[in-house]
Amino acid sequence: MLGTKAKEKKGVYENVVHQFDKAAKYMKLDENIKKILATTMNEILVHFPVKMDNGQVEIFTGYRVQHNNALGPFKGGLRFHPAVDIDEVRALATWMTWKCAITDIPFGGAKGGIQMDPSKYSASEIERITRRFTFALANNIGPEYDIPAPDVNTNAKIMAWILDTYLSMVPPHERKRCIHVVTGKPVEVGGSPGRDKATGQGVVFLIEQWAKDNKFDLSNATYTVQGFGNVGSWASRLLKPFGSKLIAVEDVTGAIYNSDGIDPDKLTEYVQKYGGVHGFEGCESIDHDTFLSTEADIFIPAALENQITAKTADSINVKLVAEGANGPTDPDGDDILAKKGIVILPDILCNAGGVVVSYFEWLQNKRSESWELAEVDKKLHKKLVNAYKSVTEQAKKYNTDLRTAAYIVALSKLEMAYKERGIFP
Ligand code: NAD
Repeated sequence: MLGTKAKEKKGVYENVVHQFDKAAKYMKLDENIKKILATTMNEILVHFPVKMDNGQVEIFTGYRVQHNNALGPFKGGLRFHPAVDIDEVRALATWMTWKCAITDIPFGGAKGGIQMDPSKYSASEIERITRRFTFALANNIGPEYDIPAPDVNTNAKIMAWILDTYLSMVPPHERKRCIHVVTGKPVEVGGSPGRDKATGQGVVFLIEQWAKDNKFDLSNATYTVQGFGNVGSWASRLLKPFGSKLIAVEDVTGAIYNSDGIDPDKLTEYVQKYGGVHGFEGCESIDHDTFLSTEADIFIPAALENQITAKTADSINVKLVAEGANGPTDPDGDDILAKKGIVILPDILCNAGGVVVSYFEWLQNKRSESWELAEVDKKLHKKLVNAYKSVTEQAKKYNTDLRTAAYIVALSKLEMAYKERGIFP
């Protein structure tokens, strides 16, 4: 049960329990269905050996948690990070179930990862670690069963290694039917145009929709971004054409500020060359607390969990928090921001663009099709605007915040599916 497991360790999973319980109470979720959704279905933990460049063997720990597949195959990213543990992966898997339900795509929720610091390993070591992890997961993933994708410190190249390893484990005549075992692949091996930018693009589509809804002028708006990897850099770049001005950025190398504006395209080139934002020309270096308290119109957290908490939320000085990251705000943070009148576009809606385009990639692979970028963007926009409308409608109906409303949309869909299907036997 969500509650029982959360007591084993205080962490990000406890935030999921809190959010889930709050929404379930508001919408009076059926008690039996609550029991089902409050439980992860499968939790896979693997230890596997990998030969390092120096000839020594190192043992790694990997996870895959499958939360629920009532609406379709399990779906969710793989993260390579030292903080990956069962608590974090459970939380991320559960959020995936809600995200797929809100955007109305036929997937359930899963997540996985390896507890490791990729910066300590060579490219060939990371390739062997990835391939050995795929081998260790074996039939726990599959194109119609559980489909991984990129997350923190994993990318299209890593997805291509997973694909190649998986294909070498299935009989030759089945290989052609298995390329949708992972999404977020390079376009050359079955990836979709627009998957790379999809999560950042989704964040920007939702900010645009919120701005329209609230008659908020995005030209001349200022924004700050935490995390300048896939999500943060794309969101930053795609907001630029609206005339909005990026004024502060933080990543693992430090934080930078320029009140005249930071060019996100130039910063992306710089980060690709030097590995982080630290030292970018024309910017002042600032510390973490100063970064978080920077006054702006929009803050896009796009790094890790638990950034806006009881300790930090008071200092947040923006009108809108658009959660590109998963779980950047904990329940105390939510309450404090609400009291300050700061709106949150919640993660399970705001960063769902990635999984939506992953679904488009999966469909293209199954149908042996290749869509144009414009078609992908148009379909993504439609999905996210519809999801935004469902969430804001529920927020009005229940007079609640957007996170709780997003949960209500997801839980209602899952509740209906279980009521129709019944509980076996
Ligand atoms: P990434 O590895 O491409 O980038 C992560 C960024 O966060 C890097 O810039 C890194 O320097 C920064 N970072 C790490 N630790 C930090 C710290 N302590 N303080 C400040 N910055 C820090 O990862 P990503 O794919 O962009 O994912 C970022 C977030 O978005 C994660 O929460 C992820 O779960 C979420 N997300 C990603 C996708 C996707 O498609 N990639 C989809 C949905 C949600």
